[in-house]
Amino acid sequence: MTTRRPMIAGNWKMYKTCPEAEETAGALVQKISDAAGVDIMIAPPATALTTVSRILRDTPVDLGAQNLFWEDEGAYTGEVSGPMLVSAGCRYVIIGHSERRQYFGETDETVNRKITAALAAGLIPVICVGETESERDADKTFSILDKQMENGLKRLTADAFKPALIAYEPVWAIGTGRTATPEQAQEVHARLRSFLEKRFGAETAEATRILYGGSVKPENISELMALPDIDGALVGGASLKPDTFSEIIHYKSAS
Ligand code: PEP
Repeated sequence: MTTRRPMIAGNWKMYKTCPEAEETAGALVQKISDAAGVDIMIAPPATALTTVSRILRDTPVDLGAQNLFWEDEGAYTGEVSGPMLVSAGCRYVIIGHSERRQYFGETDETVNRKITAALAAGLIPVICVGETESERDADKTFSILDKQMENGLKRLTADAFKPALIAYEPVWAIGTGRTATPEQAQEVHARLRSFLEKRFGAETAEATRILYGGSVKPENISELMALPDIDGALVGGASLKPDTFSEIIHYKSAS
């Protein structure tokens, strides 16, 4: 019997100015004030973190960042560090999103450094892994994910890893309107959990929350959340509208 608490997280990507972020977060907290038994996080762009942090104070919604750099400070123009994100009110940080791997040269090695830095700063990393369409077609899904997990989690002890979450995001399902079938998602989540068991032991594997991401919407969230190894969702496009994101957060009542 699982005791993992569900989590619904929103990744706003590079959308929303400060006033827009303020308005969206304000509307969201109104709509989800009755949500129970679920952790909620939104990750606005870095410019809006402090604005949104003020709106989220004393609400059930936590703040997350979409990225961080692994040094605490220094001559790294344009980068933002873990302690800076903490000071802006962040509790979570998304690491290794496929868009960062695809457009900004992130590798399993940089992901590993970022995870280590996030944990050292006291942030909860949401670690993204996922295969491309051609990798799935070539039957390489498991080997790609094993490599991302092995290299991304290098040198981490079970104790250090404990607060982290994994997000399985098949690249072919992100922003495309295509969702993995429940069977495809469950199969991969079970594989990721068995990887965690081999790497960190059964207790950590059983306790770690594994989110699914890729065109999650109100219409498919209940079906995904019913699966035994899916503990939540990382939502992109559908998290930008408070109505839609609130519907996803209230998935249980919709099922
Ligand atoms: C994401 O950005 O992590 C994501 C899953 O996007 P979307 O929900 O839009 O597919």
